[in-house]
Amino acid sequence: MKAAGFQENGGPEKIQLLDVPKPTIKADQVLVEVKTCGLNYFDLLVLREENPDNPSPFWGGADIAGVVAETGENAAGFNPGDRVLVNPGLSCGKCERCIAGEESLCVDFGIIGDSYPGGFAEYAAVPVENLLHLPETLSFEEAAAVPLVFQTAWRAVITQAKVLPGEDVVVLGASGGVGSAAVQIAKLAGARVIAVTSSEEKIALVKKLGADAAFNRNEADYWEKINRLTGRRGVDVVIENIGAATWKDSINSLRKGGRLVTYGRTSGRIGETNISTVFWNQLQIIGTTMSSRSEFNQVMQLVFDRKLLPVIDRVFPLEEAAQAYQRLADGAHFGKIIIQPGRVG
Ligand code: ZN
Repeated sequence: MKAAGFQENGGPEKIQLLDVPKPTIKADQVLVEVKTCGLNYFDLLVLREENPDNPSPFWGGADIAGVVAETGENAAGFNPGDRVLVNPGLSCGKCERCIAGEESLCVDFGIIGDSYPGGFAEYAAVPVENLLHLPETLSFEEAAAVPLVFQTAWRAVITQAKVLPGEDVVVLGASGGVGSAAVQIAKLAGARVIAVTSSEEKIALVKKLGADAAFNRNEADYWEKINRLTGRRGVDVVIENIGAATWKDSINSLRKGGRLVTYGRTSGRIGETNISTVFWNQLQIIGTTMSSRSEFNQVMQLVFDRKLLPVIDRVFPLEEAAQAYQRLADGAHFGKIIIQPGRVG
């Protein structure tokens, strides 16, 4: 089968169209004929950072949507031809966190497209417990734009930040995959959503998603404008994914008792923290990543009901996967970049 993968680590130019063996499935797995697969920032990290446990060639792709081609003998509930989407989170099902229903805190937590090759290929093997039936309300392109980013945004805004109606919530990186989901989820929770993005065009788009105010991060005084908007009280919550470049200002923008939730570090992993600010202002700094299974099911239901909308930037055929990676690396996108291994129909 064809896969868009890499034989050595590096940048988007390392992505090639490869001929690789079709995966074989275990008893509790399903072989999915991949129609579409979403590209995540995470895929850039998998490409860039060497992992000695991974085979070569390797291919990423966590957000798989497609059709069941084959089922393992213990994979009940799905039949060949079923439209499905995949929860990319892998957990052991046996440790104390899994038993408590906190699968993303599993001691063995992994992600499809990192723990083993993913969906940037014509077929992918996935555990049956990670499958959901895909209703007709969602196209394959839309389905591939959802799983990783919406579960991350849901956990960040609802579970970790515990956003309440009327609160001021800043979403940095608001035009990215998680950001554009977080804007919608915070709005649904009743917050006043303040989005930060990188161009006037993107400002107009995040406002369409429900942002009440939006600022251009290339304007030096955007934090001052946000502060003024709150009557100098400070914001209740910042949803952070930029890291080094914004960390200090994110902390300083919070009201007393405010919460900073971080799920990424696109500008670098070391940020400056004034510890006095943290304790005097009684701030909470909370890390977050992908969600538990129950959170995933909750947010997916809202997507299936179209209360939350997938945001698609552009769809690339598998042969142009390198350009898709490049577009993500350049930050030129708004919403999700989708790679399409199969003909969609
Ligand atoms: Zn576990």
